[in-house]
Amino acid sequence: MNERYSKHFLMNAEDAKDYAVNIVHFFEPGSELLSTEIGDGNINYVFKVWDKKTGRSLVIKQADKFLRSSGRPLDLNHNKIEAEMLKIENDLVPNWVPKVYHYSDVMCAMSMEDISAFKNLRTEMLEGKTFKNFAGEISSFLVDSLLPTTDLVIDRAVKKERVKFFTNIELCDITEDLVFTEPYYNYKNRNVITPGNEEFVEKVLYGDEKLKAEVGTLRDMFMNHAQALIHGDLHSGSIFINDTGIKVIDPEFAFYGPMGYDIGNVIGNLFFAWANRAFTKPCDTAFISWISKAISDIFDMLIEKLDKKFDEIVTFPLYNKYFKKRYISDVLADSAGCAGTEMVRRVVGDSKVLEVTCVKDNNVRVPMERALINMGVRLIKERRNYTHGSQIIDEFQEILKKQM
Ligand code: ADP
Ligand code: MG
Repeated sequence: MNERYSKHFLMNAEDAKDYAVNIVHFFEPGSELLSTEIGDGNINYVFKVWDKKTGRSLVIKQADKFLRSSGRPLDLNHNKIEAEMLKIENDLVPNWVPKVYHYSDVMCAMSMEDISAFKNLRTEMLEGKTFKNFAGEISSFLVDSLLPTTDLVIDRAVKKERVKFFTNIELCDITEDLVFTEPYYNYKNRNVITPGNEEFVEKVLYGDEKLKAEVGTLRDMFMNHAQALIHGDLHSGSIFINDTGIKVIDPEFAFYGPMGYDIGNVIGNLFFAWANRAFTKPCDTAFISWISKAISDIFDMLIEKLDKKFDEIVTFPLYNKYFKKRYISDVLADSAGCAGTEMVRRVVGDSKVLEVTCVKDNNVRVPMERALINMGVRLIKERRNYTHGSQIIDEFQEILKKQM
């Protein structure tokens, strides 16, 4: 072990070059390297290092012991979890995640494939770009990365060891508060409500006891249903895309939880792109028909692919075709519900999405937010009643008509 890296310190771009040569052994000593920090979060640092002559590159993601913004000390467990999760995904779905080259738990640094050829799905969609194979790719990613990690498939003891390892106290705590509590019970006073929507939020979210019970049920499910090893933060900014396919990054929120949470995050986030377009460029029918079909297709493809994958990998006799039917319909209900909670929390919580915040005209933003909240609430309450993707998109079309 190189002395210099025997104790954690926060690297800079120059250190990252040296690290890439002497620890990762990715470049020959003496190579002419360039390096830059490309991270945009408030916890981790992301360095891209490349060879000036050949263009060969890698990315090093390093976690610090202190929060980048406030300097508060931070537990580093999430970094080990991310590295371990990426290794498991490298085995299960190698085409859809960056290859891991090296991990140091001393430096809390993961060296991985540079996926800069793929672009952030959220910003691509905001620009109105469409992707033919997205629904097919993401539904296969979900099924192939989730179902094989359940104890329908893996050894029971192995699964329990994994549940232990992937207990992600700090990052699950964020989700339990920001997604499953505060949008309905603002006990930390962190919600940020757009002027003009105060009464609406008061009535539709804070004042609906039936809705609270449904969200409470989803919250309890998120906290107790150790069903599959989930990504835990699968929003459109964790998905990178181009015409050749997708790459999913940043699984630091991973833990054993309900598959529907990942699926719901994917579906819920697509509604932001749809709503943004519908309210800001309603004439862009090419994008709007692509995004609505993508949502519908993802839902339908999940039903079909879960069924097929189940038949391929689940062999335990009690998990028969009747069990399978119920299992899949439970996953779909959880997915619809979690799509709903994601939609609501990104509008009223303090962690908003660009599709919402970039709309500066309040005359547009207020009805757009109401449409998203109404759809979110509908998905939460009606989550057990969806059997086809077309039902979901029909409902949003109806809601849009009323708000526009
Ligand atoms: P954080 O957990 O701090 O949010 P992310 O994993 O989301 O960090 O990475 C932050 C940004 O760094 C991403 O939005 C992306 O632009 C870039 N990035 C991360 N991993 C890679 C990679 N393997 N290849 C290229 N760019 C990457
Ligand atoms: Mg992250």
